[in-house]
Amino acid sequence: MRLKLAAGNWKMNGTTAALSELEALARAFPNPTVDVLICPPATLLHQAAESVRETGITVGGQDCHAATSGAHTGDISADMLLDAGANAVILGHSERREDHGEQNEDVRAKARAAMDAGLKAIICVGESLEQREAANTLDIIGGQMSGSIPDQSTGENLIVAYEPIWAIGTGKVPTLNEIGEVHDFIRTRLERRFGEGVGRSVRLLYGGSVKPSNAEDIFGVSNVDGALVGGASLKAQDFSGIIDALQKA
Ligand code: PEP
Repeated sequence: MRLKLAAGNWKMNGTTAALSELEALARAFPNPTVDVLICPPATLLHQAAESVRETGITVGGQDCHAATSGAHTGDISADMLLDAGANAVILGHSERREDHGEQNEDVRAKARAAMDAGLKAIICVGESLEQREAANTLDIIGGQMSGSIPDQSTGENLIVAYEPIWAIGTGKVPTLNEIGEVHDFIRTRLERRFGEGVGRSVRLLYGGSVKPSNAEDIFGVSNVDGALVGGASLKAQDFSGIIDALQKA
């Protein structure tokens, strides 16, 4: 059985005042029946981890460097995230791929570092609108998976997030059939590469304009084990609606 996961990506949003949203979330879900993860900006990670200590909520990073330490000004290692209280890290988000030119090999190296440090790697894959319209979605996803997912992956240390780039922050969402097609494809690829046991145990998240109003339908799609949520994770009330829907799914 895969434990469902609601993961929030705060991106570059939030100062210490935003921690009140996290505290409100912890009050609303003292004993969540699904995993709940919030990935705040790195500046808030330690405080965020402290504020949810001994609750059912955990925190994660939004990126890490592939090296364990060294001359990499401005970067953060997986060990540092762990030390700050993280148990997971988002890697290969399309905004990192676009803003920082991250390639599949970079994502794979970061994922290796994260797994070596004991973090769960949430590896993001997803097509652009142009790629979807050219009917290249599955080829793109397959290539990103082969290039970004390390060989050492297991159901414990790997989570894959399918995030169509054109659905992120736009209010546009693929049809349920389109989501199902990609999630089934990802599952099959994982089973083929890692064997049925591991392939079936990796959690697959959908991300892209998930809101309380569409969450129930999305969580009803086969092989959707939860969501990676951007905008709607910033407010406890919105994210609570999504967690509620996942708990009922
Ligand atoms: C994201 O950035 O991972 C994301 C899914 O954003 P949003 O929910 O705002 O579309």
